[in-house]
Amino acid sequence: MRKKLSMIIALALIISAGCASKQTAQTTDKPIVPPTNPDRQYVVTESGTWLIHDMNRPAPEIIQPGDAGGPPSDAIVLFKGDSLDGWTDNRGNPSKWVCRDGYMESVKDSGPIKTKQQFGSCQLHVEFATPSNVQGSSQGRGNSGVFLMDEYEIQVLDSYDNITYPDGQCGALYGRAVPLVNACRKPGEWQAYDVVFHRPTFEDGKVKVKPRFTVFHNGVLIHDNVELEGGTTWRGPHKISDFRPHGDKGSIALQDHGNPVRFRNIWIREIKD
Ligand code: MG
Repeated sequence: MRKKLSMIIALALIISAGCASKQTAQTTDKPIVPPTNPDRQYVVTESGTWLIHDMNRPAPEIIQPGDAGGPPSDAIVLFKGDSLDGWTDNRGNPSKWVCRDGYMESVKDSGPIKTKQQFGSCQLHVEFATPSNVQGSSQGRGNSGVFLMDEYEIQVLDSYDNITYPDGQCGALYGRAVPLVNACRKPGEWQAYDVVFHRPTFEDGKVKVKPRFTVFHNGVLIHDNVELEGGTTWRGPHKISDFRPHGDKGSIALQDHGNPVRFRNIWIREIKD
């Protein structure tokens, strides 16, 4: 009798394990141990434990991707071409950069322009154009920059037929990483950066987790999950800054380097660290 009862209980457990594909979401740090069944594979996720090809698994949110270059419907639009309201100068005052014909343009000696809103880890889209009237050479031609957290610069430069040091050419993580290829369009043509950025963290004044960049330039991969070994601020002809501890969020900033560089269609999506 006892043996028969044990068999009934075991059978009930096997049936319940096979039918219950949706498990309760995790409430402890301990992962749920999926039932053992050689014909069924499970995956443990933040939303619960799911069978492979489980119809009950939560589907991703539906968004509208928009036109090529975005913005997608779930993005925060930072600049759509008609106002600098969401931006300030270095002191928090209205910027002297000009806004016209759907773009903003840097003005010499006006300093950087920065978003009022602050961000950490993110996906960022920025379009830019260096001057069609080509002047200067090396770092003096179409120089600007896109800064994440007001700290880490993706160099903007006219690197079309313009020799400079590779870790400072267009697309470089300034002084830290050379782009995989030079994907520049001609001066005056609109170009795009698409960036995936994971912010750094600091502890006791030292970097704990280093920042990471993946960058596409005009759709071409130029940085593949690159980890920065320090800051990107120029400290001399052959020196670059160390990490400077900062908070969890910072502005997106665009550099005034004395050349009139244009920007348009700037949007951002916050992502997990
Ligand atoms: Mg620059």
